Amino acid sequence: MSDQVTHFIGGVQVAEGATFATHDPVTGGVVRLVHEADRAVVDKAVAAARAAQPGWAALPVAERAGWMRRLADAIEARFEELVAAEIADTGKSITQTRTLDIPRGAANFRSFAEIAAQRPDEAFHLKDVLSYTVRRPLGVVAVIVPWNLPFLLATWKIGPALVAGNAIVVKPSEHTPGSMAVLADIAAEIGLPPGVLNVVHGLGGGSTGQFLVEHPGVDAVTFTGESRTGSTIMKGVADRVKPVSFELGGKNAGLVFADADLDVAVEGSVRSVFTNGGQVCLCTERLYVERPVFEEFVTRLAKRAGELRFGRPEDEDTTMMPMISAEHRDKVLSYYRLAEQEGAEFRAGGGVPSFGDERDGGYYVEPTVLTGLPPDSRVNREEIFGPVCHVAPFDTEAEAVALANDSEYGLAATVWTSRLSRAHRVAQSLEAGLVWVNTWYLRDLRTPFGGVKLSGIGREGGTDSLDFYSEPTTITIKLEPEHE
Ligand code: NAD
Repeated sequence: MSDQVTHFIGGVQVAEGATFATHDPVTGGVVRLVHEADRAVVDKAVAAARAAQPGWAALPVAERAGWMRRLADAIEARFEELVAAEIADTGKSITQTRTLDIPRGAANFRSFAEIAAQRPDEAFHLKDVLSYTVRRPLGVVAVIVPWNLPFLLATWKIGPALVAGNAIVVKPSEHTPGSMAVLADIAAEIGLPPGVLNVVHGLGGGSTGQFLVEHPGVDAVTFTGESRTGSTIMKGVADRVKPVSFELGGKNAGLVFADADLDVAVEGSVRSVFTNGGQVCLCTERLYVERPVFEEFVTRLAKRAGELRFGRPEDEDTTMMPMISAEHRDKVLSYYRLAEQEGAEFRAGGGVPSFGDERDGGYYVEPTVLTGLPPDSRVNREEIFGPVCHVAPFDTEAEAVALANDSEYGLAATVWTSRLSRAHRVAQSLEAGLVWVNTWYLRDLRTPFGGVKLSGIGREGGTDSLDFYSEPTTITIKLEPEHE
């Protein structure tokens, strides 16, 4: 892959549209020049997808599943190239990229190949009547993804959309085009039928992303990103009543009960707050801790926050990564200053680290632990999407659940307790699409994934994904009795 990122349309590279630069979050230096798809380029991509889709849908599902497995094999064959592309765009640590981001991409294709190929047809027999359902692909799907887990989140949509028989046009984030450019190259290399997978690069609102989702040749939109963007997209496609699947923001709560194994709760919370620099939709930003262990928990969490390592991405023991952009760093820092104004006590962090080397041009912020804010403070209500959490005490289980549910968002929650019935009771009371007990971010790809309230519409994963990317037609036939 060259440092000039081009579109991938109808199986070939297309270098059209003005270019913009992406920046290395570690140093602030330029990484690549990217062509921005204007309306004409988006038209071409949608036309290529429309032309390819009927032939692709006509293949037996087992054959489409075979292509998904070939994509997974080719991802594994070019593993280190993908790792390098993802690191250059995001500044993630090599350990995380090798163990999570890129292997999950391959797993996304493999697991949807399995699930789709094994899915039985549904038939219902009544007296003299047979009803059965055929599922048909939606047609052409726009896939819009953010910058925080670029490869993982894109493949999470591409796998099921393709195996269900759709053709797609993917628009990666303008910050992180690299790994999708490699995937496009892989698709060409393995001979995936041209036009089935297209990639256009560019910005979002008023540009490539908006042109794509609102394009009349696009039948449905799958989007992961900010809640506000989801709402804008929804308005933009409302006239055509396009189906949408939205994975949006979160303001996730963690509940730590005094009966929890505190070592496990502290280490689990360190992961859930600071992984990927706090830039995962599932990260915890609000922690509620039962009063008898509150002070010890905060002290230990703050100490561990101070121990996270800002090494370079290629160092295997690096545990803290930069923010994706100067703009996002400034947003996170503005919340640190807001926390001060709202009266928070800083138990760790709050500033910008200084390195005395080229990383001072990068977009780093300190991991931060706050206490002392009321539930209605903006810091406790708005998604920050950085390495920061606020910790508050609670006295009863009912109060803990009420505090956790007091949010416009409802994506994920974590519960730390050693009592089995409490774990089930609390997990079932939380307004969230995902609840983890004594762990965080473990995923079986067959289970539904998604949020409630401002955190999204619909679920991805397993047959839920396949249901979104296809529509059922129910056929009912009267079976005449035999007259002889
Ligand atoms: P974003 O909404 O700014 O952008 C996401 C994508 O949408 C980008 O590709 C962008 O170019 C595009 N876009 C922006 N405006 C558009 C428009 N009007 N029409 C079409 N496309 C448009 O989000 P981001 O800053 O890239 O990502 C961070 C957000 O994503 C956070 O809110 C985070 O919680 C959320 N997120 C959610 C999940 C989840 O599964 N729920 C996972 C990861 C990230």
